[in-house]
Amino acid sequence: MPERDTTSHHPVSLGEEPRFCPACGEPVRAKLLEADHRPRLVCPNDHVTWRNPRMVVGTLPVSDGRVLLARRAIEPASGRWSYPGGFLELGESTAEGARRETEEETRLLVEVGRLIGVYSRPHAGVVTLIYEATVVGGEAAPGAETSEVRAFAPDELPWGELAFSTTESALRDWVGTLPGHRPQHEPQLYVTGD
Ligand SMILES: [Zn+2]
Repeated sequence: MPERDTTSHHPVSLGEEPRFCPACGEPVRAKLLEADHRPRLVCPNDHVTWRNPRMVVGTLPVSDGRVLLARRAIEPASGRWSYPGGFLELGESTAEGARRETEEETRLLVEVGRLIGVYSRPHAGVVTLIYEATVVGGEAAPGAETSEVRAFAPDELPWGELAFSTTESALRDWVGTLPGHRPQHEPQLYVTGD
């Protein structure tokens, strides 16, 4: 089956459009380049400002069969639960970024394991990779952007208080891999609409 082009069906919000070229500081304008398929931001010196989806990496840290989630202390979805995760930095592998974000947000040291899933949100311009991880050290404690870290057994996950649809998808996919467990949840509405 050919892959469906969903680009035009999603209003993309990637923040403010750059107005100046990061290479030379001249103003940029949208221009269709030869053999390209959509306008690009180009400056008078022909530098192209490429804009692509950003990558978010995170983990489901597991200890004694329970998964540790962090309660968000910042918007969006403040007060709701999600996995530790954040934007991948240049120069990092996805596993390194996931391990770093986990330590920053939960103070847990983890060994990053198998990939749970890749979650694409075209309208947000974000691709999220979530790994299962084994807790190997540290003491669970909130970081700068979280207010609480708590361990949940697969049967007691806070399905009604999750932060994002990606949180729900990753937990559902994780629970689905556990022997004897079925995903148990009601579809939820999310504050960010994604
Ligand atoms: Zn330029």
